[in-house]
Amino acid sequence: MERVDVAIVGGGPAGTAAAHAAASNGADAVVFEKGVPRADRERLGPDSTDAAGILDYWVDIMDIHPDEFDDGIVLQTLDRAEFVGPNESVTLRSTGIDASYEHFGYTFFRAGFDDWMRERAEDAGAEYRIKASVKGVETDLDATGDDPRHTLTIGAGDLIGADYLILADGPQRTVTNRVLDTFLPDGQKASERLASPKANHIAYQEYRRFPKEVFEEVQHAIKFWWGVMPGHTAYPWVFPNDNHVCRVGLTMPIGLDIDAIEDRGEYALLHPEDERIPQGKTYIRRLLEWQYGDEYDIDTDFPLVEDRGKRNGTETYPISSTQPIESPVDAGIAVTGGAMGATSAFHEGGDHVAVRTGAIAGELAADGDLSTYNDKWRDAIGDEVLRNVTFADLVRGYGPADWDKTFKMTNDMLGDGGLGSLNKKVTAGLSGMKVLYKYKKRKRSFRKKDYVQLTADEYVY
Ligand SMILES: Cc1cc2nc3c(=O)[nH]c(=O)nc-3n(C[C@H](O)[C@H](O)[C@H](O)COP(=O)(O)OP(=O)(O)OC[C@H]3O[C@@H](n4cnc5c(N)ncnc54)[C@H](O)[C@@H]3O)c2cc1C
Repeated sequence: MERVDVAIVGGGPAGTAAAHAAASNGADAVVFEKGVPRADRERLGPDSTDAAGILDYWVDIMDIHPDEFDDGIVLQTLDRAEFVGPNESVTLRSTGIDASYEHFGYTFFRAGFDDWMRERAEDAGAEYRIKASVKGVETDLDATGDDPRHTLTIGAGDLIGADYLILADGPQRTVTNRVLDTFLPDGQKASERLASPKANHIAYQEYRRFPKEVFEEVQHAIKFWWGVMPGHTAYPWVFPNDNHVCRVGLTMPIGLDIDAIEDRGEYALLHPEDERIPQGKTYIRRLLEWQYGDEYDIDTDFPLVEDRGKRNGTETYPISSTQPIESPVDAGIAVTGGAMGATSAFHEGGDHVAVRTGAIAGELAADGDLSTYNDKWRDAIGDEVLRNVTFADLVRGYGPADWDKTFKMTNDMLGDGGLGSLNKKVTAGLSGMKVLYKYKKRKRSFRKKDYVQLTADEYVY
């Protein structure tokens, strides 16, 4: 049987960061990636679906400065984020969090970024195998001598033995769930413990060429609309790319019942004649019509760019809405990135934590000791995850009027500052203080009862 030190399942940012770190620290590391075809990449590669925006302080979390990338990966530098409610809106010009990066953020070409991450790992000595779908993993904790601790079955049945297993198969956790099942108490299943039955989401996006003057308005902004479509963390966005192309996308819960929605007339992207929740492409069309339809013909002035994205200028991606999990490190296994749930509370904002958790896992595996992995990722990304989990929980049940109220209060509180200045702006009045108080209370309670969905002490070896 072929043997490696570190086997990595999944070749997205978490997997390639793990491979780079493991190989840089002297390990024999192999990434197994099933390979996804995309119109914007010639060879097969990782999935790469992403709105592809990074905020200033995420650069420090990711620990890779965009200047290191090849040309053509950074598409735009950003100077703001706009949050638009039904009647109120907020523009943030600073995240308010200390950051070494000089801009508000940047947008990037995700497939190019993934290729760069792959090449960086290969240059460090790691191997990246494509069309290498991991079908199963057997772990033998009593393995002695030359017997491997983990045996992976790849594709039609090739067996690979490994001392350490890094799971980086993304938020769908097709391999991770099955591996974790073997370490859960009898009768428990990871898929049932971890996937939130209430909030399984779908992400959908289109690449659209914008008219020059409209593109110039949004060129340095990422723009989100809240309270315009029903569902928890359901929102559309526009992210600027290059050559007047923007990604227009959304995330929304799967299986929402339109008849159960209160005040459905308040949602700008629902229409009275809707008998069911519209499909992603209908929502995107309505967003474009709503924002630009008065002055432009959407079909001719905002055409789909069919040679970008996954297929015909569009991409769809299912997401599980979960909170992070600790890894069964005593079995020599680290779960990273989307698979560890570090990225899903808001369905975006995950490349930085994927890269960082992958790098931590790869380095520790190369050193032959994963035991500190759960502590180390908490040190590196714990604050970020806590922030996301708290905000996602705070806005549960928000309807259009709640978003307007929040944006109005945030405007009153912010002045010209960023999120970090909220603390200093409690003079904004009682309602503003209430939001801040609620956020802090919720965050404290998550800190106390913990934001982790599955803790290391629950695993049975
Ligand atoms: C629509 C959308 C918009 C987003 N926007 C942003 C954003 O603006 N900024 C940001 O930072 N993050 C964003 N994210 C999140 C970001 O894409 C993820 O956090 C990131 O991709 C997680 O990286 P990962 O390596 O953990 O997983 P993934 O990138 O999902 O990679 C997992 C890989 O594992 C492979 N795989 C799965 N199963 C197997 C198997 N059995 N065998 C072999 N290979 C397998 C898959 O093919 C895939 O390539 C967005 C996500 C979506 C869906």
